[in-house]
Amino acid sequence: MLNRIDLRGGARDPRRLLPRAQLDVSVAVERIRPLVEAVREHGYPAIREASERFDGVSPEHLRVPVEVIREAEGTLDPQVRAALLESITRARKVHADQRRTDHTTQVVPGGTVTERWVPVDRVGLYVPGGLAMYPSTVVMNVVPAQAAGVRSLVVASPPQKDNGGLPDQRVLAACALLGVDEVYAVGGAQAVAMLAFGSTVDPAGAERCDPVDMITGPGNIWVTAAKRLLRGVVGIDAEAGPTEIAILADDTADPAHVAADLISQAEHDPLAASVLVTPSVALADAVDAELARQVPAAKHTERIATALGGEQSGVVLVDDLEAGLRVVDAYAAEHLEIQTEDARAWALRVRNAGAVFVGAWSPVSLGDYCAGSNHVLPTGGCARHSSGLSVQSFLRGIHLVEYTEEALREVAPHVVTLAGVEDLPAHGQAVSARFPGVRP
Ligand code: NAD
Repeated sequence: MLNRIDLRGGARDPRRLLPRAQLDVSVAVERIRPLVEAVREHGYPAIREASERFDGVSPEHLRVPVEVIREAEGTLDPQVRAALLESITRARKVHADQRRTDHTTQVVPGGTVTERWVPVDRVGLYVPGGLAMYPSTVVMNVVPAQAAGVRSLVVASPPQKDNGGLPDQRVLAACALLGVDEVYAVGGAQAVAMLAFGSTVDPAGAERCDPVDMITGPGNIWVTAAKRLLRGVVGIDAEAGPTEIAILADDTADPAHVAADLISQAEHDPLAASVLVTPSVALADAVDAELARQVPAAKHTERIATALGGEQSGVVLVDDLEAGLRVVDAYAAEHLEIQTEDARAWALRVRNAGAVFVGAWSPVSLGDYCAGSNHVLPTGGCARHSSGLSVQSFLRGIHLVEYTEEALREVAPHVVTLAGVEDLPAHGQAVSARFPGVRP
């Protein structure tokens, strides 16, 4: 079922040979550019037109009334409520430990630099809702933002036909559980544009969604493309697009579990990527046999089969686990499972991954919901330079520079020298004006 890529015998540039989706984000950016422009120019009518086209539904008012959000909590199945509360509790534990404290460095007597950690003022949190519904993503976005101290939180999530044009009822309930009361029934690139530029949100143009300073959250390729296009207009966490799982496994792995984990992420999206990296042909064969057994029995067989059969998925055969480690580092998966002997030792050597799931008892699904870790993670190789969502994502470090007269006098000649080297004499002048006669 999975394509095989045989890198045994060594590959000089594994990154080029590894499976990746053809429709990449830069192609999608060009497709959604006119829609993003239309939202910027026209606001509500452009959003409504896009909702009709892509979601098959167009709520008259895009903002969800606060009472409707609060009432949603009451409609939650008690078991779902308990699971969401458990997810919130565990995520809060981990994210509370990520808080940063201000730090003052004494550079010289009388000269200090203090780094103050200040939360972003207003943040837009995207919660997907196309092929699947994601109340868990409300938790993963809101918990770190609240732990960071963000004051104004806005959630946008696609309108659902079967919920009268409101976002999914469980998504609204999760917002209520976390105390979020500014929610818009808008999805896709139009939601990202609305949050970035601000927009009217009703036919009369009486109500507005004010622009946010930063947008976080995962989404499909269109959401990811809009985030890439608007990076700079607003802050963007990372590109958290169609899900990826890579599994580094050896003969000790259970093929039934490996197959189940590959399927679990393929279930998200036909563009999702599931990649097994192994030196064991026997394991690769056994996983193939398991996939042939498990995929037809899955609920979303068609979506899973498309994702697993796509060019973005495959089995990569390598000479040994050392070579496998080089391959998974080159791939930089959103989720990386290590199912090998001494899994922790291998995991500690990984350089590039959104999150690493260590050993047989830490599957990605645990991290999707209830590990305490964050499930909003970088995709498409972005794990080479970006991290998953955390408290840090919502903080800015502002330096306070405080020097006394004496401390400035002491360093003034060096400042004047460097200003001269850069042919920016006015910079030097700004210091020597305070200390007439200072020479480099
Ligand atoms: P979504 O909300 O991301 O996308 C639905 C929206 O896409 C719709 O509202 C619609 O407006 C827009 N859309 C649909 N077709 C379009 C088209 N042809 N052109 C322009 N816009 C279009 O929900 P989804 O589709 O269920 O996708 C969720 C995604 O989030 C999946 O790919 C999943 O793998 C990913 N995900 C990623 C992470 C992560 O951290 N990387 C976490 C959870 C989910």
